[in-house]
This record gives sequence, C-alpha cells and structure tokens, in this order.
Amino acid sequence: MTRLDVAWAERWVRRAAAEIHARRDELTELDRHVGDGDHGANLDRGFAAVVARLDESDGAPRQTVGQVLGLVATTLMSTVGGAAGPLYGTAFLHASRVTGRASLDATGVVALVEAAADGVVSRGRAEVGDKTMVDAWEPAVEAAGRAVASGDPVDVLRAAADGARQGAASTVPLAAAKGRAAYLGGRSMGTEDPGARSTVLLLQAAVQAAVVVDASNDVSGGAANGASNRASNRASNEAAS
Ligand code: ADP
Ligand code: MG
Repeated sequence: MTRLDVAWAERWVRRAAAEIHARRDELTELDRHVGDGDHGANLDRGFAAVVARLDESDGAPRQTVGQVLGLVATTLMSTVGGAAGPLYGTAFLHASRVTGRASLDATGVVALVEAAADGVVSRGRAEVGDKTMVDAWEPAVEAAGRAVASGDPVDVLRAAADGARQGAASTVPLAAAKGRAAYLGGRSMGTEDPGARSTVLLLQAAVQAAVVVDASNDVSGGAANGASNRASNRASNEAAS
C-alpha cells in the first residue's frame, strides 16, 4: 500500500503553488465579490515564497512530512497578509505537529486533515455555515474519516478533497457571518467563498501529488503503466473539476 512520504509532501506544496498561481485570477474574482479582491494575490505570494524556501534548502533534505508542513506554516505566516495568512499558517502548523514521521498511512492522513481543520477553527472561531474556509475543511475531515477504512492514504486524500469541493459549493447561497465578507451581509450571497475554494485547490493538489506516486510505483511496465497513467489522468481531471 502506498505511503505518503516526504517527497510527496514536497510535491504537494509545489503543486499547490502551481495551482494557486494558475487560479489566482479566479480566487481574486471571488474575493472581489465578497471581500477586497486580494485572496489570489495573497496566496500566490505566500506559496511562491514557500517554493523559494524549498529550493533554497534543497541541499538539506527534510526527514519528516511535518518538517515540510512546518516550513509552509512559518512561510505563510510571514508572507501572506490578511485573514488567509494566519489561518492557513495555523492549519499547516497544527498539521505539522501530527506528521513528524517519514511517511503517512491512511490514519496519518486523517490526522493531518483533522489537525489542519482544527488550526483554522482555533484561529478564526468560525463555524460551519458562516461561509468561510471552515465550510470546506469540516466536510473534508468527515469524508476523510469515512474513507479511512479503505486503508489507502490516497483514497483518504481523495475523499477529503471531494468533501471540501462539496462543502465549498454549499457556501454559494450563504450570507457570510465571519471575516471581511460579513460586512456585506446578504450581498455576499450567490458567490462561493474564496477561502473555501482555495482549500479545495490545496487538497486537490495533495491528491495529484499522491497519484504521481501511484504511477511511479508501478514498475510492471507496458499495459499496466498505460492503465495507471489513465487512472492518473482521470484523477487529475476529477480533481480539476
Ligand atoms: P482578507 O479577508 O483579510 O482580505 P483573504 O482575502 O486572503 O483575507 O481571505 C479571505 C478568506 O479568509 C475568506 O474567503 C474566508 O474563507 C477566510 N476567512 C476569513 N475570516 C475567517 C474566519 N474567522 N475563520 C475562517 N476563515 C475565515
Ligand atoms: Mg481578501
């Protein structure tokens, strides 16, 4: 069974940075409707800084998943302004504390997602239905917990990303009760919450980074490789939808 190791964590972070960069305008547009239009720029700046720090320290490989996530936490906290920097910074900080191992199994992935969600809630004190990123994180935790019985950490991640996607979609009709968007009251209705959307992008990037592991672990060659590439493409397409 696949375990998600330090190389996966680094691929996740790089993939997240690329996705956020590619979707920067989409995030900005959402935040223009319900906030001040800086969410895409905030996260893009933060994740670019994370990648720069990973590159700088390439010569000193990290030993645990938690070390990678800890680097994300400190970098986001120091480079991302607004609400999202401290929220995601705390999410990654809490996640780093439960992932001090060379690799994660299915239970380890549940612990990661749970700790990240706890971090967001402890920092922002929002509840489900307040139209924030909590509306994506909480269903991600629930879905991850349900998927743990499969014993496959990639299945757990996929379930988390899917739960987040449904949770983010559920924010569209809501009126914001927390954060900058709350000033708009009912006028925030009709738009997906930008932080919930970026949470989906982050979790989908984690899936995509893991699917690469699945494909590269498949050394049987020929037809089997074709099948695993197709599986990988399908996963990326699902993740992108
Ligand atoms: P700012 O609101 O300071 O401009 P961003 O635009 O980067 O910061 O981030 C906005 C996102 O932060 C929102 O879409 C929402 O998901 C999230 N957010 C704001 N306040 C809270 C909170 N108290 N708890 C959880 N998430 C929050
Ligand atoms: Mg904003």
